[in-house]
Amino acid sequence: MQTKFLLAESDIPRRWYNILPDLPWPPPPPMHPATHEPIGPEALAPIFPMALIQQEVSTEGYIDIPEEVLEVYRLWRPSPLHRAHRLERALDTPAHIYYKWEGVSPAGSHKPNTAVAQAYFNKQEGVRCLITETGAGQWGSALAMGCAFFGLELKVYMVSVSYEQKPYRRILMETWGAKVVPSPSSDTQAGRDVLAQDPDSPGSLGVAISEAVEDAVGRDDTKYSLGSVLNHVLLHQTVVGQEAVKQMEMAGEYPDVIIGCVGGGSNYAGLALPFMRDKLAGRTKTRFIAVEPEACPSITRGEYRYDFGDIAEQTPLLKMHTLGHTFIPPRIHSGGLRYHGMAPIISQLCHEGVMEARTYHQTKAFVATVQFAQTEGIVSAPEAAHAIRCAIDEALAAREAGEKRVILFNHSGHGLLDLTAYEAFLAGKLEDYAYPAEKVREAMTHVPKL
Ligand SMILES: *Cc1c(COP(=O)(O)O)cnc(C)c1O
Repeated sequence: MQTKFLLAESDIPRRWYNILPDLPWPPPPPMHPATHEPIGPEALAPIFPMALIQQEVSTEGYIDIPEEVLEVYRLWRPSPLHRAHRLERALDTPAHIYYKWEGVSPAGSHKPNTAVAQAYFNKQEGVRCLITETGAGQWGSALAMGCAFFGLELKVYMVSVSYEQKPYRRILMETWGAKVVPSPSSDTQAGRDVLAQDPDSPGSLGVAISEAVEDAVGRDDTKYSLGSVLNHVLLHQTVVGQEAVKQMEMAGEYPDVIIGCVGGGSNYAGLALPFMRDKLAGRTKTRFIAVEPEACPSITRGEYRYDFGDIAEQTPLLKMHTLGHTFIPPRIHSGGLRYHGMAPIISQLCHEGVMEARTYHQTKAFVATVQFAQTEGIVSAPEAAHAIRCAIDEALAAREAGEKRVILFNHSGHGLLDLTAYEAFLAGKLEDYAYPAEKVREAMTHVPKL
C-alpha cells in the first residue's frame, strides 16, 4: 500500500503548460481602464517585464523553463503526491484520496513556483526593485525569497489586518530581505485616499494593489509583481499539475474529481489545467471543483464581467468573476482567499461549464482540517482547509453512493504560521460570515458597463 509517490529531480517539468491554445473559446482580451478598448502588450510595459507580458498572451502550448529557475525549483521540487490512507479509513470511504503537497517549499506554499520565475525574468531585463502587495503574507514571503535568490530589492504593501494578525509572515519577509509596509499607507495617493475616509481601514488586496502599482509606475528601475489571477502566474504554477499527472500514473489511477481552493485561482489552476487538457480534448469526464469561502464567493455569487483589479481603477479591465473592485472583505482567517476577482482562465472555465465552484463557511473548513491534521499529520493553511473540506465531502458522498471515487486535491500550503486561526477555532471563537447579496449588488453599480 503506497503512501507517497515521489519523482526524481530529472522529472521536474522543463516547460510550463499554456492552456490558452487548447481553449475552444477565444479568451476575452484585457481592456484599457479609461478607453475600454482592447489593449496591446505594450500597455503593460510600465509594470511588467516583456518576457512576462509575452507569456501573458502567448499562444504557444509550452514555454521553456530557464535553467536558472529550474535550479531553484530543485530545492523543493518535485513535490510529493500523497495518498491519504489514514483519512480514508477514518471516513470509512471506498474513495481514494490523493493530495499534491506544495507545503514543502521553503515559504510553505505553492507561491514560490511563480515568485522565483518572476524574480528571474525581471532581473534578466535589468529591473533593480520589485513592488508587490500581500494579503496574508504568503505571496510577499514567496517573492521575498525569489528576490533574495536573484539579487532584487523588494517592497511589500501588506494588507493592514494581516500585518497585525500575522507578524511572523512579516518577519519572514524581512528575513529574506524585503521592506514591508502596512496598507493602506501614507506612501501613496491611493493609500492616503482610503485613510482619509477610514483611518482604521483594515485594508484589502484591492487597496494594496493600487498602492503597489502606483508606487512601481512612479519609478524607473522598478516593476510590479502579482502573485495570482494573471495568465502568466497560472502558467508558472502548471509544474504542479504536470508532476501530478506523472504521479497519478505511478499510482495507476486517473482522478474522477480534482479539487482546489481558489483565491485568485493560481494554485488550483496549477494542478487542474494539465488535467483539464484531457477533458477539453474529450478524453475524460473528470469533474473540477474550485472551492471558495462563503465570505468571499467571487464565482458563486459574483458576476462574470469586465472589472478592475484594484480599487483605484488603474489596472486593465479583465473579464472575470468579480464581487466588484470596491469589495472590502470581512476579516476571515483565509487571508489568501480574500480577493474580489477570479483568474480570467478559471472564470471562463466555470462560465463555460467545464468547471464548477462550491463555497464553505470557515468553521466547516476548520472541522475538516483538524480531522486531516489528526489523521494525516499536516496542519494546513486555512486556505487549503477549504479544499480539504470539499475532498472529505466528496469521499463521504462516495460512501453514500457506495462507489469508488478517485479524488485529487491540491494541498496548497501548511498552516504553521496560522496557529492563531486554529486557536480561535479550538476555542469556539471562529465566526461564520456569508457575504451579503446586497453588497454585491451595490458594488456592481461601480463596475463599468462594457
Ligand atoms: C495564496 C494562497 C492561496 C490562494 O491563492 P490562489 O492564487 O487562489 O492559489 C491558497 N492557498 C495558500 C496556501 C496560499 O498561500
